[in-house]
Amino acid sequence: MTSLADLPLRADLVGRTAYGAPQLHVPVTLNVNENTHPVPQEVRADILERIAASLDEVNRYPDREFTDLRLALAGYLGHGLAPEQLWAANGSNEVLQQVFQAFGGPGRTVLTFPPTYSMYANYATTTGTAVAIGRRDDGFRLSGATVVAEIERTRPDIVVICAPNNPTGTPVGLDVIEAAYAATDGVVIVDEAYGEFMPQEAPSALTLLPGRPRLAVSRTMSKAFAFAGARLGYLAADAAFTDALRLVRLPYHLSAITQAAALGALAHAPLMLRMVDEIRVQRDRTASGLASLGYRVWPSWTNFLLFGGVDDPKALWQGLLDRGVLIRDLAIPGSLRVSAGTAHETDLFFEAMTALTPVGAR
Ligand SMILES: *Cc1c(COP(=O)(O)O)cnc(C)c1O
Repeated sequence: MTSLADLPLRADLVGRTAYGAPQLHVPVTLNVNENTHPVPQEVRADILERIAASLDEVNRYPDREFTDLRLALAGYLGHGLAPEQLWAANGSNEVLQQVFQAFGGPGRTVLTFPPTYSMYANYATTTGTAVAIGRRDDGFRLSGATVVAEIERTRPDIVVICAPNNPTGTPVGLDVIEAAYAATDGVVIVDEAYGEFMPQEAPSALTLLPGRPRLAVSRTMSKAFAFAGARLGYLAADAAFTDALRLVRLPYHLSAITQAAALGALAHAPLMLRMVDEIRVQRDRTASGLASLGYRVWPSWTNFLLFGGVDDPKALWQGLLDRGVLIRDLAIPGSLRVSAGTAHETDLFFEAMTALTPVGAR
């Protein structure tokens, strides 16, 4: 059998393993921060109709500039954004990779703040961008002073700030983004994949876009919109910034079917987002339940929680899996991450956690 070692693979990819959480079929799947509520029936019907209509012209290439979708995304985000300030691709992973292709590359550096979304380092590898590791403050927090010090130390071309942060759930203040932007000549990417789960009154980094042409805020329909399988991510930035991404995108990268599906979902945004409040309720319920079992739960503005105080994370992860509950081990010492599910999934998670947490041991 041929193995990777037999192929003339690029030297910097040798020995690397592919990204991916285990995709196991178990009753309770709380490992990749999906929205575990299905898309409402009425929205499905509209999406299907739009996809059917798109098939009339599927012999032709799709609208390369996804004009209608940019208009709909601008309308959804608000903040006075114009359609040309919006950019979309097959998941925000593709959007972020395009940012690295356009602004990173050989001889350039990206600054990230681990523990954070591990894909940032992955886009760096595949685009030949060097990675600088930024330090965080205590409790996974990020202050403006720390970010500025790390920018001055590493002089990056791209700064990526995940806000709120995955996998810790940690909120990031807008003062941190403002300070980062002022301290660098590079681009600043704020990954707001969990933006819709922030408290209603918390401002988005979208409010900082005017007058900051090197700032981009990325979002996704994968989490709050319960649309992970459709693959639609996007960012908002200055029109010149989105123009730069047109240099690296593949021709017709967003299929007509994807555009139709996303337009259908966005046309029903309030209905699609109906579950966000309920998910926050289950997240907070999960937090207080874990705390009462004696675990340390980190503050979260997302749809998941990082909890510490786990003696043997691998054993607890396996014990949960044996009981049909899949969560995530991100190799953060003594810690595991769990996504907020439905009320029923939360019940089942707690049944298993209670069985696996010895009484009086904590
Ligand atoms: C889930 C997630 C993404 C989004 O991925 P998609 O490609 O849009 O599904 C981006 N950033 C972070 C931090 C995430 O957790």
